[in-house]
Amino acid sequence: MDLAYRDIAYCKNVGAKRADILRSELNVRTAMDLLRQYPYKYIDRSRFYKIAELEDEDTYVQIVGEVTEWHTIGIGKAQRLSATFFDGNHQCELVWFRGGQYVKLQRGVKYLLFGKPSVFNHIYNFVHPELTPMSKVTPEMTQGLEPYYNTTEKMKRIGITSKTMRTMIAGLLPDLKAGVPDTIGADVLQRYRLMSLRDALINVHFPKDTTSMQNARARLKFEELFFVQLQILRQMKRREQFPGFTMPIVGSRFHALYKSLPFDLTGAQKRVIHEIHDDLKSGHQMNRLLQGDVGSGKTLVALLCCLLAVDNGYQACIMAPTEILANQHYETLKSFLAPLGDAVHVALLTGSTTPKNRVPIHNGLMNGTIHILIGTHALLEDKVQWQNLGFVVIDEQHRFGVAQRAKLWTKNQMPPHILVMTATPIPRTLAMTVYGDLHVSIIDELPPGRKPVQTIHYSLQRRAQIYTFMHKQIEEGRQIYVVYPLIKENEKMDLQDLQNGFNELCEAFPEYKISMVHGQMKASDKDLQMQRFASGETQILVATTVIEVGVNVPNATVMMIQNAERFGLSQLHQLRGRVGRGADQSFCILLTDMELSKDTRKRMDIMVATNDGFRIAEADLQLRGPGDLEGTLQSGTPFDLHIANLATDGQLVTLARQAALDILDQDPLLEDEMNRIYKRQLDILRVSQSYNWSEIS
Ligand code: ADP
Ligand code: MG
Repeated sequence: MDLAYRDIAYCKNVGAKRADILRSELNVRTAMDLLRQYPYKYIDRSRFYKIAELEDEDTYVQIVGEVTEWHTIGIGKAQRLSATFFDGNHQCELVWFRGGQYVKLQRGVKYLLFGKPSVFNHIYNFVHPELTPMSKVTPEMTQGLEPYYNTTEKMKRIGITSKTMRTMIAGLLPDLKAGVPDTIGADVLQRYRLMSLRDALINVHFPKDTTSMQNARARLKFEELFFVQLQILRQMKRREQFPGFTMPIVGSRFHALYKSLPFDLTGAQKRVIHEIHDDLKSGHQMNRLLQGDVGSGKTLVALLCCLLAVDNGYQACIMAPTEILANQHYETLKSFLAPLGDAVHVALLTGSTTPKNRVPIHNGLMNGTIHILIGTHALLEDKVQWQNLGFVVIDEQHRFGVAQRAKLWTKNQMPPHILVMTATPIPRTLAMTVYGDLHVSIIDELPPGRKPVQTIHYSLQRRAQIYTFMHKQIEEGRQIYVVYPLIKENEKMDLQDLQNGFNELCEAFPEYKISMVHGQMKASDKDLQMQRFASGETQILVATTVIEVGVNVPNATVMMIQNAERFGLSQLHQLRGRVGRGADQSFCILLTDMELSKDTRKRMDIMVATNDGFRIAEADLQLRGPGDLEGTLQSGTPFDLHIANLATDGQLVTLARQAALDILDQDPLLEDEMNRIYKRQLDILRVSQSYNWSEIS
């Protein structure tokens, strides 16, 4: 019987009790599910080391040698056994902190030592090693790579260890060898030189050597990414067929704003507006991602596109993740639109809009007198009804889930066009997965005349020097941001840090005015403080990361980041983007402790080395790994990757996407006989995994 349908309880070496735990702990229901539990690491048991060759502290090794001396120290529970191991040339130490009484050692016997070395007192130590007399070492023990499997506490409690996993999987080996239906067509396997599923599963669990293990894993990673892409792209293809509002006219409002701008659009801004306008003309619904570095002028692009919609008789909205940002957008748009007089009506709706003020907004949206609405999540409320919503901008998308995006669809009889903008660039391969269902436009050019921000990394000790520098900047008429980390907006300690910092600055700069803003403040107070800083009334703004996104005060030239080690790279870059917006030279000062971890040092070095958001995004992905990034993106990606890694398998992502695209270009609905295997596998995945794109229309 097909392993994909064989109940796990009826597999060799499993049984009812283990089956229950496998089901509840790992969601393993079938024999194939068990085979899909891939090892998380391998230890090379075919290689024998000499003590002189040891380098890494954290890799398992095996060494042949003799035990020359041993003794016990301490009594009772604290008793410990120490031994000296000699490989013919060098010595190392073996230590058992417990269970030493069960270790039987003999002189003049050759042992196979297996364990993880660490350096202690300038000599290699093995704590609780495995020690097997050579006479008892079977060939299997030293054959090839030994796989290690993840297990949970509950599994261990009933005796399912990594070794048990291996035994259970070995029980399926004869069936596996007899062959399993492949999930990928022979043509694709051939084109990308991939192993068959049968060979890949055999070699991922029982690899002959490193090469076959790596080839097996590459095939399984490709497969995983391929089906993710098949899901995403099928969704995208399906949506491409949806009818959308047609907006062919480039009208008077668009032209009026364009002419009133005090500067030219950059080439990249023009190109992107063309790309979007092509979508608007197409008769199909647009789903587009707009990427651009901090300060590249995404907001203006969004506004011009909103005007395209308005000129065609539709309404538009811009949805921002925070009230501060919504307010800021509202102010920015109003000032851009001032020369147009009454031609465009813009309104603002956020959580703090009073019920009384909501009434005219609700009415204006219904009767069409409001053309553009700016707001936060409040826009999604059912009460917000439109006359003819046609274009939606979602700014700084990472704070919105996919499901929320879907909510906007019910606001008109056809789904509006959707433009998603990100705060900072996202690495290409991550975007392909997290935003893989969107078409991408990139602004890869900054407005001319910007002086790159100078970034300097200081340790906290240099406070006096930094204050002198700040004084000088303020005397020259500039303004300064001082940002404190706030991991969770409600953490009291962080607020205390902020308050202390504020007090300290008040003492150090008695002649200047200082604003403070944080997430716990009432929206109106926040607004007031931001306003005071924006108008130049206060010289220093002390804040938590609430100012991270979007805030625009061109006269501010210094961004000082306290405890910079507590920020991620993209956050640091986003914060740095708050300065360098005017004509003056700007500075970003990263303050950290003296003692830094290796990763923190790298983060600081990257910040100092480059201003390029795309490069920083790539570095961030490498340093943090994709799981972390997706977490902060809160993208709501409805799938987990088990073997592929978006940080290190970028090339496979690209290949898998291409392979999926080739198939769907020919057969968007997977109806061909040839593509039946893909449909079948998608069905299996839908049942066994949590991801289900069909819910997200
Ligand atoms: P982003 O949202 O991409 O980080 P913004 O839209 O906030 O960037 O733009 C940053 C600043 O640059 C704003 O003050 C904006 O008015 C200005 N700006 C936008 N486009 C241009 C341009 N083509 N030339 C000069 N300045 C521009
Ligand atoms: Mg912005």
